[in-house]
Amino acid sequence: MKANERWGIVGHAWAVDSLEHAIRTRRAAHAFLLAGPHSIGKTTLARALAKRLLCMANDASVGQGDLFGGVSAHEPPCGECRACVKNAKGVHPDVMLLEGVPSRDYYNKNGSMVPPRKSDREKRILLVDQMRDMEKWLSTAPFEGKSKIGIVRRFEDANEEAQNAFLKTLEEPPSHAILILTAQDAGLLLPTIVSRSQPLTLRPLAVETVARALVEKWNAQEADAQLLARISGGRLGWAVRALSTPNVLDMRREALGALNALVQEGRAERISRAEKLSKEAGELPQMLETWQTWWRDLLLLASEQNARVTNVDYLNALQAQAGMFSLEEIQRALNATRNAARQLGQNVNARLVTEILALSLPRV
Ligand SMILES: [Zn+2]
Repeated sequence: MKANERWGIVGHAWAVDSLEHAIRTRRAAHAFLLAGPHSIGKTTLARALAKRLLCMANDASVGQGDLFGGVSAHEPPCGECRACVKNAKGVHPDVMLLEGVPSRDYYNKNGSMVPPRKSDREKRILLVDQMRDMEKWLSTAPFEGKSKIGIVRRFEDANEEAQNAFLKTLEEPPSHAILILTAQDAGLLLPTIVSRSQPLTLRPLAVETVARALVEKWNAQEADAQLLARISGGRLGWAVRALSTPNVLDMRREALGALNALVQEGRAERISRAEKLSKEAGELPQMLETWQTWWRDLLLLASEQNARVTNVDYLNALQAQAGMFSLEEIQRALNATRNAARQLGQNVNARLVTEILALSLPRV
């Protein structure tokens, strides 16, 4: 069995192989940094790594005090030992998972401390106090295993102060402590954090890999699986969530409907449509992501790479537009959409961003 299958991970074989190799040759670091786009499987891999490290099958062939363990007759993670069973349920007492709290703006506006998670891009903040709590937890001896594993999701949600609060633990971790950080991009973190951890960047999976997993592991219909795999851009986590949230496909249809209306409208109509769209602030990031897939598809059609198109169910409409817009117009529209998405992330006024974007799109 391949290592990634044994770990219960779809794809990312090279990443699992390299972690497995580091563990077996005892060259694994005390801190790992898993980077990659959101919903690509970083937290899933972090949990699997924790399970692999805590699996008691490790203990069979190595002496006491050996943190990472060696090879045993039952290849870890065995899936059967007490540690594996607890990890599968997410209740192992030596694993702690930390993520930021929703940002102050968000819950002040909504009057609630724990709002439902509305989108993948919802802003969160990792607080200094949370970091200190985890440091304190890591400093005491493990309850059951030989190590304690702290997983911190989306470390880019930590500001400089919070990242710095963590630096000491990264520099001189207790001998039993292992840290696994995830982040969309190592470039968003302090260099001092990155240099003290073993980095690994996950890349999107092949469309076929995502589609097959959706059918085999999540019982998706073949046609749904193919479509979601393409829209997901190779991010399995996104595709799995979309599968159980019918709303996602509806939102996509609405987003593409709005875009196709906009490119047929004049200035005044665009401004009023933009104003309406900007009122659904929570849905804007997802809408702009969908719009980007549209312009990318037009670029692909222009270079005759039809097989790589994301919005396969809109192929006719795409082909019609590919004949109407110049390559330059398409590229400009893609850049404008990307910029708008970035500005929304920086809290620029949603109405302004949407309006400027609407006016900069080409007209059919
Ligand atoms: Zn086990």
